[in-house]
Amino acid sequence: MPPSREVFAECSSALEGLAIPDPWDVVALVEWLGQQRGRPIILIPWPTAGGVTGCWVAAAHQDYIVYERTATPLHRSVIVCHEVAHIWLGHRGHSTNALADESALPHDYRDDEEIRAETLAELILEKAALPAPKVPADVLRVMKTLDQGVTVDSLADQRGVSARGRRRWLGPRT
Ligand SMILES: [Zn+2]
Repeated sequence: MPPSREVFAECSSALEGLAIPDPWDVVALVEWLGQQRGRPIILIPWPTAGGVTGCWVAAAHQDYIVYERTATPLHRSVIVCHEVAHIWLGHRGHSTNALADESALPHDYRDDEEIRAETLAELILEKAALPAPKVPADVLRVMKTLDQGVTVDSLADQRGVSARGRRRWLGPRT
């Protein structure tokens, strides 16, 4: 189910406060977030079970983002960004008991929190994909020039873009 307009607007606004590394680097994003919050965030590869592939654990003075250790780099970004979204949106981390054994990690959030985290995570990934080869170089250049004018949803539209769509960005051809 796509997020409501309200949720999308809220998450777009949350995205603006995040420093998304360019070029994309999920570890740098996590480090930045830890500095912002004054609590280091440690990434922990983990043999996850039961379908939960990521978990935010809040300890006394630091946080852990646990992720499936066999995840590909792309999947790791997806998992970690989801947890980053929970953190940035001010949801609650899980207790360190989650790491006590190798049973399934907890991922206990209300549905509305889950939808918001997933929406923000998708926006982060969308923004992180800016230099992706799917976006034609000339479109990228114009986007960077416009900077403030570029919204994430317009960027989303831009992917798999048609020639007509590109002209909208590039202005009338002479
Ligand atoms: Zn979640």
